This record gives sequence, C-alpha cells and structure tokens, in this order.
Amino acid sequence: MRIVFATGNNDKLREIRQIMGHLGLEIVSMKEAGVFEDIEENGTTFAENSVIKASSIAKALRKKGDTDSIVLADDSGLEIDALGGEPGIYSARYMGKDTPYPEKNAKIIERLKGIPDEKRTARFVCAVSAVLPDEKVLTSVKTMEGIIGHEIAGENGFGYDPIFFLPQFGKTSAQISPEEKNSISHRGQALRDMEKQLSAELKKISE
Ligand code: IMP
Repeated sequence: MRIVFATGNNDKLREIRQIMGHLGLEIVSMKEAGVFEDIEENGTTFAENSVIKASSIAKALRKKGDTDSIVLADDSGLEIDALGGEPGIYSARYMGKDTPYPEKNAKIIERLKGIPDEKRTARFVCAVSAVLPDEKVLTSVKTMEGIIGHEIAGENGFGYDPIFFLPQFGKTSAQISPEEKNSISHRGQALRDMEKQLSAELKKISE
C-alpha cells in the first residue's frame, strides 16, 4: 500500500512527506504514479473540489490496475469576509491564473481601501480528502484566521501570504518561518488531521 498525492506541486509533496512520513507508507506524486490527468475542479466548495481531485486520480489508477493505493488531494484558498468570501475557491484563478501575485495582492488591498481592521477578517481554508482502496472517502477541512493587511510584506511563503496578517505574531504569514507557518496553517492542520484519520483506518485494516 502507498499514498499517491494528486498534485504537481513539490512544496506540497514535501510537506505531506514530513507530516505523513511516519505512517510508514511510500508517498509518491500522481506523475510518479504514471497519472497525468488534467482535473476539472468544478465543485462549489473546497471539500467538494478535494474529493473531485482525489476521486478522479483514484479512478485513473484503478483503471491501470492499481487497486491498493490511497489517493490524497487538497484544495485551498483565501476567503475575505469584506469581499463576500472572494476569491475563495477561485483563489488560484483570481484575476487570471498567470497574473503575478504582487498584482493580485495589490488589487485586493486597493479593493479594501478605507475598510477598518475589524472588518478585514479573512481565512485560509484547506480541504484534504483521501480515497481508500475500498473507495471509502475521508475529508478534513481546516482554517487559519487572520486579517488582510494594508501593505504587502514578507518574502516567505507564496500566493497571498504577504497580505495575510496574523495578529498573534504581529506579522504576515510571509514574515514568519516555514516551520511556524506549518504549525498553524490551514494545510498543516488538515494534513495532520488526515494523518490521524488514516492512521486509525490502517489500524482497523491490520486488526
Ligand atoms: P490550489 O493549489 O488549487 O489548492 O490553490 C490554492 C491557491 O490558494 C493558491 O494558488 C494560492 O493562491 C491560495 N493559497 C492557498 N494556500 C495558501 C497559503 O498558504 N498561502 C498563500 N496563498 C495560499
């Protein structure tokens, strides 16, 4: 049994290897497993999209005769309350998927001009889903709360991190270390929760 992670993103793969490593299963990317599907994320929530990704990769693997891999997928994004939850599930595609993040971030700050801190609340959301060999589906959804800053700050992280201010640190999520971010992030929390769920499932199988 192994874990196939439905992503082409090496940073995500590294993070899941760190968190899921001690399950004692080999962890490979979908490409390493020989699956090159282009998945249409047409769900209406993060959870739905993560299930769509994991299920379509599981289907492709089963077709190739792989019946015992666990398939994991995630979907994540930023919800800004003052923008009615935008960019939400469209976070990667906001203003076009190839638009550089400094431009996207500057646009968001401009759209929130004049809005006071107490109304600048936002959260990163991450859904992680797993499709097990018996086709059972597990899902975990976790969030990291913060507020949208008034300027772009920080070099760490990626995407919207430089405008995501964490009041408990007095810094953006691009100004804290990767270790600090992993310990509180939406993705870190969802992966750790999924690790627990998978660990319980593996225990059931071995009993
Ligand atoms: P996904 O890879 O389809 O889940 O897209 C996630 C998108 O949400 C990314 O491209 C970023 O725009 C945004 N996002 C998700 N998590 C983070 C984060 O931890 N920091 C910054 N941006 C994030």
